[in-house]
Amino acid sequence: MDARLSAKFPFLKEASGFAAENSADLGSLMTSESYSPARARGKERVLDAINSGEVTYKPLMRDYDCLMEVLSYPYARILVSVIWDRYLTKRYALGEAVRMNKVLADEDRQTVLEVSDELGFKASTDGDGIMRMKFPDYLMLSSRMKSVDWKLINSDVRSGIVFLPREKFNRLMQNALQDKIESELPLRPPEEFLPYLQKDCDEVRAALEDAKMKMSPTRGEGMKGEYLPPCVTHLLEMAMKGINLPHSGRFALVTFMSALGLDYDGIIRIFAESPDFDESKSEYQIKHITGELYGRDAYTPPECKTMKTEGLCFEPDALCAKINHPLNYYRIKSRGPRKTDAGAPGNKA
Ligand code: SF4
Repeated sequence: MDARLSAKFPFLKEASGFAAENSADLGSLMTSESYSPARARGKERVLDAINSGEVTYKPLMRDYDCLMEVLSYPYARILVSVIWDRYLTKRYALGEAVRMNKVLADEDRQTVLEVSDELGFKASTDGDGIMRMKFPDYLMLSSRMKSVDWKLINSDVRSGIVFLPREKFNRLMQNALQDKIESELPLRPPEEFLPYLQKDCDEVRAALEDAKMKMSPTRGEGMKGEYLPPCVTHLLEMAMKGINLPHSGRFALVTFMSALGLDYDGIIRIFAESPDFDESKSEYQIKHITGELYGRDAYTPPECKTMKTEGLCFEPDALCAKINHPLNYYRIKSRGPRKTDAGAPGNKA
């Protein structure tokens, strides 16, 4: 078994074989002092994903370091499984997938094909640097890519095969690994190992809460009316006065309030004034939009472009001219006058 290949791609069967060859088992990984570097690195994998969205990669030469790197992967997955938070799982899967994409960039064709094969996507190349994959596979993996580069009209498709450069192919493999990791979690480590995981889980939980708070438009301080964009203020006023909102207006309001951290009780109170208020119907709609109903991701609030198309943009002010998304209006307003538009994600500046 190739130690360095296993360390680079710890999700491959080759990596499991390498670990087995070195007599590494789950019990030792959880409890043995000799595997503490693997546990430390496993925790680092998860923290990297939380803090930067990318698990770090450093080339390793010694077999011992490669073994620790390989074992850190199942340990990281166990930590994520025990904490079991939807955001963390997605963030971790993304972090591992971004790492793999970067590593793949320096690999030879054979390795790229081996990785894609294990991810469930048969591909080929004739040595011209162009990868070939089946059209349905391409569609499945590229459907979430928003850039026009990924549209079919800009793709080279012949006889059911898509021809694409290595860089784009690797990017699709990133999606494939992200999906694979998400689908494989949570793992169920035996109860007896849970006490050994406690300390690392606590540290990861703290980092996760911190990251979520920083990411939240309200930064954990609760929603403040003075920071709301004019469109949302208008929708909110209409709802509170009992004026019926169009479906698109309800959707925008619920997604916005949910993104600011309002829970179901907070949101339902807004709609309780509506003349046709029907709690069971509203409950279904709100929980569907916020993802509570089926345990899925919440819908994100519409951007300004969509709000304008839907006729929901209301009396835009000077700050509106600098942003593309109502949530960025809130973020900028709540940060105060010194740090305004420059460099904020989703802004026009
Ligand atoms: S520009 Fe955007 S944030 Fe401002 S009122 Fe219109 S939709 Fe709302």
